[in-house]
Amino acid sequence: MKAIYPGSFDPVTYGHLDIIERAAKVVDELIIGVLVNNAKSPLFTREERVHLLEETTKHLPNVKVKTFEGLTIDFAKNNGANLIIRGLRAVTDFETEMQIAQTNHSLNADIDTMFFTTSLEYAFLSSTIVKEVAAYGSDISKMVPPIVAEALADK
Ligand code: ADP
Repeated sequence: MKAIYPGSFDPVTYGHLDIIERAAKVVDELIIGVLVNNAKSPLFTREERVHLLEETTKHLPNVKVKTFEGLTIDFAKNNGANLIIRGLRAVTDFETEMQIAQTNHSLNADIDTMFFTTSLEYAFLSSTIVKEVAAYGSDISKMVPPIVAEALADK
């Protein structure tokens, strides 16, 4: 099984890494897809987001990091993946995630979405929350790996 895990990863958090580690055990190959969306203005450049993901997943031999633009389903197809991995935190994620999964399935029925529910300790965690806490100089060591905390401090 070959899967993609798409997202903004601006920046990667322990919540993302929890999903990546668990998904990497289930599939043969996992490609993390860093979405380059011109409508959003991310804090980290695409190169920085890729670098932080590569550094924090280098212990996982079946995980690769790539960037993509456009539709997730096209990124999956172009990489020969038959599975899209997404994480579910709370009920609030459920509605949008279901809509996205159903849209993707209607666009290409050969590609399915698999959800991993967040580990409880990361249920509140998002890249947005981390950036907000970091902006006020508070401790984010339980939210992101040290290399990400350093990158946030530099910003
Ligand atoms: P997006 O911009 O698509 O929301 P993100 O980078 O925020 O991208 O997230 C990518 C995926 O990781 C989404 O499926 C999201 O639900 C999931 N995710 C993010 N944070 C967590 C977390 N703390 N626990 C579980 N899943 C998470």
